[in-house]
Amino acid sequence: MAAEEPVKTIRLLLLIVISFSLTAAAQDLLKSQQPIWTGNPDVSAFEKMENDHLAKAQTSIDAIVAVKGQRTIENTLAPYDNAVRQINSAAYLAGLMQQVHPESAFRDHASAMLGKSSAAQAALSLNRDVYNALASLDTSQGDAGTRYYVQRTLLELRLAGVNKDDATRARLKQLNEQLTNQESMFGRNIDDDKRSVEISDRSELEGLPEDYIAQHKPGTDGRIQITTDYPDFFPAMTYAKNDNLRRKLMIAFLDRAYPKNRAVLKDMMNTRYEIATLLGYQSWADYNAADKMVGSGGNIATFIHELDVVTRPAEQKELAILLAEKQKTHPGATDVWDYENWYYPELVRRAKYNFDSQSVRPYFPYEEVKQGILDVAARFFHVSFQREKDAPAWDPSVETWDVFDNGKAIGRFYLDMHPRPGKYSHAAMFQVLDGVRGKQLPEAALICNLPAPTATDAGLNDYGDVETFFHEFGHLMNWILGGQQRWAGISGLSPEMDFVEAPSQMLEDLLRSPKVLASFAHHYKTGEPIPAELVERMNRASTFLRAGKVAQQNGFAAISYDMYKSNPAKLEPDAICNADFHNYLFLRMSPGTEHFYSTFGHLAEYSSAYYTYMWDKVIAEDFFSEFNSDDPLAGETSMRYRQLILEPGGSMPASDLVKNFLGRQQNMDAFERWMNAEFATSPQQTAHVQRSVADRQANISTQ
Ligand SMILES: [Zn+2]
Repeated sequence: MAAEEPVKTIRLLLLIVISFSLTAAAQDLLKSQQPIWTGNPDVSAFEKMENDHLAKAQTSIDAIVAVKGQRTIENTLAPYDNAVRQINSAAYLAGLMQQVHPESAFRDHASAMLGKSSAAQAALSLNRDVYNALASLDTSQGDAGTRYYVQRTLLELRLAGVNKDDATRARLKQLNEQLTNQESMFGRNIDDDKRSVEISDRSELEGLPEDYIAQHKPGTDGRIQITTDYPDFFPAMTYAKNDNLRRKLMIAFLDRAYPKNRAVLKDMMNTRYEIATLLGYQSWADYNAADKMVGSGGNIATFIHELDVVTRPAEQKELAILLAEKQKTHPGATDVWDYENWYYPELVRRAKYNFDSQSVRPYFPYEEVKQGILDVAARFFHVSFQREKDAPAWDPSVETWDVFDNGKAIGRFYLDMHPRPGKYSHAAMFQVLDGVRGKQLPEAALICNLPAPTATDAGLNDYGDVETFFHEFGHLMNWILGGQQRWAGISGLSPEMDFVEAPSQMLEDLLRSPKVLASFAHHYKTGEPIPAELVERMNRASTFLRAGKVAQQNGFAAISYDMYKSNPAKLEPDAICNADFHNYLFLRMSPGTEHFYSTFGHLAEYSSAYYTYMWDKVIAEDFFSEFNSDDPLAGETSMRYRQLILEPGGSMPASDLVKNFLGRQQNMDAFERWMNAEFATSPQQTAHVQRSVADRQANISTQ
């Protein structure tokens, strides 16, 4: 043992020297890699940046094809990865500028460049020479990440149809263009179709807030219009006492884009079925699942079934609560209807949970929220942040930050947090640059629309805003921590689309810890930390109707799967909606609501993959069960989580990430506890819920 000591010391010294030189290299990288908007490019400078990226990609593609003799990782995979990185850089920047640049003409140019980058991406994925080059590559000497990268890329290229004959490839190209048009038409039909319900008397608005009633004055004909726009729709569904108004409004809402979208949906189903069968799959659901965690259409069906089994008992209890509320005014009622699905929950929420969401807002002034989220993230992800004070950006309000791991620069991000005319109106993390170890630091931007503080206004946030901020910041940290791989193509996020939401969903749970919230949520006037009792009450209120919401998501997942599960000649959208509503929702559905698919925008882009939301929620709860829920920042779990879930990025299948962290496959136990939290206020009651779950399982097995 003693004889080995000097060797150990040398090794240690060597490690220190290596890590020191890596650190120095990383700092140089930060210096040499200027913030993305340095020089405040005008349209032509921006287009030059974009075209330069695409030209470099083309040079790399040419180099792959030109190789004579044996193919190696260096002469084939390295230029392929460079092409991917260059095209990504062009696409990311154009995609971002299309959404955030303050000038609308600039945004139009960015859209055009995005189109050009997407075309380059599509051409690369159908380049048969590149496919053959990668397919003939011997990766047996490469590391595991490299082997997975090549295997995964070959799968994606085959799913694009690269190895099919010319006629099939031409047909696929045609079908994909057709599908893009059908998808955008489906969405446009929904956006364009605003409907309204007419009422003749203000008394029909009883229950609605005064300002709402004041905003809805009768027209010259004495009639009042209530539209299907969200600001009209949701208050009416939640507060209006009039059953008839709510019923008519809901049917109008679900009837938007009908019958137009019935035809468009059938077209999409046919196009997708043809694509799937040309590529050798039985159905679109199978084809679309082939590069995802779920793996096959059959597994989607199994997941939906299993979720239904665990949801039903809690759902029945929730239904009993809503029914009891309804029976106060409708003695003898035996059902809760779809159009009552906002109204009775609101009555129960007020009576039972004594929580008003307005009461937490004073604890969330924007500046404190921002600093608080950075501080919590620094502790959770074991990093530090430093602002680049004078870094140029596309708008003066945008902040630029660097991320350090143990003093070493590992990435950069931009915070564009407040509304602006013409800016993207939701909240999302936008990729800016792929990370490549030693070559390029990962960069990302957070684009949100939170209230901005002014001289006279602290910019108070709703709890939901804070949650969104943290959720999106979680994607950003995943991008940066996962962005230290050897290759751009396995950098950042897991490649499986049905995994990426799980880490951010988990962070939402973490934020609910009273201890975590009190660390930064201070009353904007008194400075008092948010009381634990208030957080507990807010958390209690959030447990209400979890099962009902899960069941609803599961019903939507079933509709999304069933529309694409087999030959569309045998599929009838109205019948699918009717059956799935009946099978999965605990509510009675009104006649006319079977047209719901025409307004279900996810059938275009998500197609058969709506299950993703619940799939990731199940994983997120499983992840969170590994943490101390009272003090999730304490202990070693967050470091283990960072190393096993986030750092590998896309270098291995998501199911391996999950297994490595949990020490087993994911299961629904933690999710089931989360869903039943509403009925488990004390350890005894938790035990009762667990018993009733066991009873139910016994029941199910005897049915
Ligand atoms: Zn997300």
